[in-house]
Amino acid sequence: MKTYQRSRLTACTAGSLALVAAVAVSGCGSSGGEQKNAVAPQSTPAAGPPSSAAPSTAATPPPAAGDGQVSAAAWAKWHLQPLPAAPAPPADKPVKLGRTGQVPVISAIPTSDKVVFVTIDDGEEKDPKFIEMMNDLKIPVTMFLMDDAIKNDYGYFKPLQAAGNHIQNHTLHHPAMSTKSAVVQKNEVCGDQQVLSQQYGAAPFLFRPPYGDGANTATLNSAVQQCGPRAVVLWRETMQIHDMQYQAGDKKLKPGDIILAHFRGPKDLKGETMTEMFGELLSRIQEQGFSVARLEDYIQPPAG
Ligand SMILES: [Zn+2]
Repeated sequence: MKTYQRSRLTACTAGSLALVAAVAVSGCGSSGGEQKNAVAPQSTPAAGPPSSAAPSTAATPPPAAGDGQVSAAAWAKWHLQPLPAAPAPPADKPVKLGRTGQVPVISAIPTSDKVVFVTIDDGEEKDPKFIEMMNDLKIPVTMFLMDDAIKNDYGYFKPLQAAGNHIQNHTLHHPAMSTKSAVVQKNEVCGDQQVLSQQYGAAPFLFRPPYGDGANTATLNSAVQQCGPRAVVLWRETMQIHDMQYQAGDKKLKPGDIILAHFRGPKDLKGETMTEMFGELLSRIQEQGFSVARLEDYIQPPAG
């Protein structure tokens, strides 16, 4: 991921064409972006979930599949404190996508619910333990999958999809889109759209450009429109190995924030595993008293 920071800078310095819609808009401007020591703020005492459940239910068996409940034993198995349960999905989804025309660029969801959204990109690491972890903890995630990273094992992601998680578009080959012609950009988006639709039986309705690059350009917006997705989705926080990198100066999660993580393993995480990284991610969320909700529960795709 050597090119990551360089390309991200490109994305952040590229001119914006002000195409963005009324929903929250990507900000590249925060100076905190490259810091390694983005430590979660000291806890506000009232923020955590109740902790009394752990001792009394530690002996209960793992949750039955599909019952929606996560037992104290399941959290303990992964050495985690329980996250608060997410509120019921809003009946009226705060973001509504149109069928045609310019697509909005979204990096947070307007909501007062104390929820954040977890997105996981690319797809290179395929750790079976992560499937087990997600089966145990039932954390909703949105996967932005890139064909080059997943084509050696499309099947890996199917149990995650079967658990209710959506698979969204992240290009065929992961280029910095603003460096490519309109034709290439369209091929990248339409190609991944076709592969993902075929492999997973559902057409993505969200698109994330690699590195966030080109998100606010007319060329990329047009490519997305032509290929099917109805929004460009960016992020507010980026999960590193242990810590979260925040765009906001106060280094705190806000209701509706979208968090970026990656399917990465020891090779890219200095020896840490995907499940260790994800456990750290959940801990940063738990410490701040947030729950994780499903992004697609807050975004209404176009009718029909
Ligand atoms: Zn990516």
